[in-house]
Amino acid sequence: MTETRSGALQDPWEMALEQFQRAAQHVPLKRGIREFLAYPKRELTVNFPVKMDDGSVRIFTGYRVHHSTVLGPSKGGIRYHPAVTLGEVRALAMWMTWKCAIAGLPYGGAKGGVVCDPKSLSAGELERLTRRYATEISVLIGPESDIPAPDVGTNAQVMAWIMDTYSMHRGYSVPAVVTGKPVSVGGSVGREEATGLGCAIVAREALRLAGLSLAGARVAVQGFGNVGSVAAAALHRMGAVIVAASDSRGGVYHDRGLDPQALVEHKRATGTVAGFPGARPLTAQEVLEVPCDVLVPAALEGQITRENAARVAARVVVEGANGPTTPEADDLLRARGVLVVPDVVANAGGVVVSYFEWVQDLQAFFWSEEEVRERLERLLARSVHEVWRVSQERGVDLRTAALVRAIERVAEAVHTRGIYP
Ligand code: NAD
Repeated sequence: MTETRSGALQDPWEMALEQFQRAAQHVPLKRGIREFLAYPKRELTVNFPVKMDDGSVRIFTGYRVHHSTVLGPSKGGIRYHPAVTLGEVRALAMWMTWKCAIAGLPYGGAKGGVVCDPKSLSAGELERLTRRYATEISVLIGPESDIPAPDVGTNAQVMAWIMDTYSMHRGYSVPAVVTGKPVSVGGSVGREEATGLGCAIVAREALRLAGLSLAGARVAVQGFGNVGSVAAAALHRMGAVIVAASDSRGGVYHDRGLDPQALVEHKRATGTVAGFPGARPLTAQEVLEVPCDVLVPAALEGQITRENAARVAARVVVEGANGPTTPEADDLLRARGVLVVPDVVANAGGVVVSYFEWVQDLQAFFWSEEEVRERLERLLARSVHEVWRVSQERGVDLRTAALVRAIERVAEAVHTRGIYP
């Protein structure tokens, strides 16, 4: 569950299901097929021990959910966060199915998570937790079956430990079992920046289609982590002015714009964007309501709710995070003419370059940074334009349009494959 500003609890799985049901109304589907697409295919819960530095043993709980494997092996990140629940992982897995389908990737959707606070663990504890969790879920993961990647609280180093653990069990190196690895062990150049850069590319294309310009646009970013900080830097390079940014410890605002690179350095030095010299302090949530043209929520689910949607001042919301806007908030924003570019399009850059990484690993043939960027640009621009066209043709919002295309693609594959046996 995600605690919203109002304190109301919003179950991400309920959100994901409601979004699905709304879009599914626009697709002629037999009842059984609709239910098949709504249910997760399989869910694994693991409880496992980890030796802590002080000699004690602690039990951790983790999950791996496959929502769909219709279009191919399942793909999705692994989250380390104290608030991870099975419902959250299930929702994130479903969103991965739609995200991969919209981008035209040969993947189904999955997600994983461990209930833990990675910031409170030593490097050794984090490594032992990761290796044990990887072993526990090794019945599901593999280069042909299910390929994890980083998400909140995990990074390239965590992926390297998963790749090494899986490889030790096989007796040979299997780089294609995870993506988002360091380049030194088979990662792709450009993967670490891909989600944030993709978010900026999608924002630019969506604004263009809406008849707006990114040059001079005022942008607020909630969540200055992997996605938010890279998106801010890329949007800044494209001519936007970053007026506000926040992380879990606080936020900052500057009317004339913040320098994203200096902000990254400040966060690296102090652990937070709060206290950035020369900027006005904001609470973590106020960043959602500052006067701006574009708001990029890039933290967690359930941030824009019916409680605060009326105070969102942006004209365009570009969802860097997964599930930041509740369905009720979606309706309120739409009624006020705010354009919402949905997560399944806006943050697809990560899984797109993960796909490139997997293809490179399987072929043992690696691409240049220019090739990665060019293909990323082309694929995302195509997705945004396609979703925009569907939205215009059917008279629906961009989220519904995106999910309609995704559901159509997966449903077509179900029909073509048939129901086994
Ligand atoms: P991250 O851990 O690197 O960053 C998350 C940031 O959000 C941190 O700076 C944290 O302090 C901040 N945060 C947490 N709660 C906050 C709050 N209430 N207000 C303001 N800031 C808050 O994680 P990330 O990889 O950047 O992921 C962020 C979002 O993007 C998640 O929803 C994730 O699922 C999604 N996403 C990530 C990727 C990827 O490749 N990493 C891909 C697609 C989608």
